Amino acid sequence: MSQFNFTVSEVMTKKPKPLSDQLTFGKYFTDHMFVMEYHHQKGWYDGQIIPYQPITLDPASMIFHYGQTVFEGLKAYAAADGEIQLFRPDENIKRLNRSNERMCIPQIDPELALGAIKELVKFEKDWIPNAEGTSLYIRPFIIATEPFLGIAPAKQYKFIIILSPVGSYYKEGINPIKIAVESEYIRAIKGGTGEVKTAGNYAGSLIAQEKAEQNGFSQVLWLDGYEKKYIEEVGSMNVFFKIDGEVITPALNGSILAGVTRKSVIQLLKHWNIPVTERRISVEEIEIAHQEGRLEEAFGAGTAAVISPIGELSCNDNKLVINDHQTGEISKRLYDTITGIQYGNLEDTFGWIDKI
Ligand SMILES: *Cc1c(COP(=O)(O)O)cnc(C)c1O
Repeated sequence: MSQFNFTVSEVMTKKPKPLSDQLTFGKYFTDHMFVMEYHHQKGWYDGQIIPYQPITLDPASMIFHYGQTVFEGLKAYAAADGEIQLFRPDENIKRLNRSNERMCIPQIDPELALGAIKELVKFEKDWIPNAEGTSLYIRPFIIATEPFLGIAPAKQYKFIIILSPVGSYYKEGINPIKIAVESEYIRAIKGGTGEVKTAGNYAGSLIAQEKAEQNGFSQVLWLDGYEKKYIEEVGSMNVFFKIDGEVITPALNGSILAGVTRKSVIQLLKHWNIPVTERRISVEEIEIAHQEGRLEEAFGAGTAAVISPIGELSCNDNKLVINDHQTGEISKRLYDTITGIQYGNLEDTFGWIDKI
């Protein structure tokens, strides 16, 4: 029994843990998971930590047909002093509830959600890897489980948390990646679901991702859905460009995901007195800045990859090499500072760390 009266049932035999140099992203899962039910007449109930296992659902469960689901992604870090640290988990839970609201999924008490994350991570603490750059990725998600073939918000849901020990998201690590501007497909437009973490956004983006990979790029850079002129974001990262000493990132316009890493990057840059602007920015502006030698750096920012420098940006037939394929000064400083705080090697002056 825990503070929230979650029941706990433990596995009989624990799995072998992967070696830290085998860790990629999202491939291994821990011994236990958290599951909680929702019924419209009962609210959220019956939170449990149980052995990691397949879930059984009625084939008419609404998640399978209409995709009513949301998810989050955050990490637990093993600090040098033995503490377990979460980075701004309250931001993830706020976003989870914003996603819930958009997808007509019931709100979840933030303390209950955070309590469930902390209880599960604590229970699985032996799974938190401690080699440099590794962490325990936390994936909370909610699915509509009511068996009903009608288009309406479901009356029953499951909230599940699974954990995965991870290494770097891109095989390149902190080395610069190559990104292709996507000029055919659209990820999201204002009024749609682009600003929330819901499955369909990602399913709809696979085709562009496939095309980019076939052409030797790690990710696509999405453009706005109206004019296909303005930069939105990368598949799972927000994006920043440094032009003439000023860091520019697309403003949150209703179709871009409001990243926790994005918010932290902006706060750090302001703290360092580096000019940072949230505004609309076009591909053309980037191309011109590049041509005139004013495009100094570009990088993506997200929980999975932290900071990922962009070494090459392909816009149709125009290949822009950025900072000679090298990690830029600001990218490096942001990466070192954010990971320094996450792993407890730097002082948490912003109050971003929540210890378990
Ligand atoms: C999760 C995600 C991000 C990054 O958000 P963080 O909170 O920084 O992890 C950016 N874009 C998309 C589309 C995402 O799904």
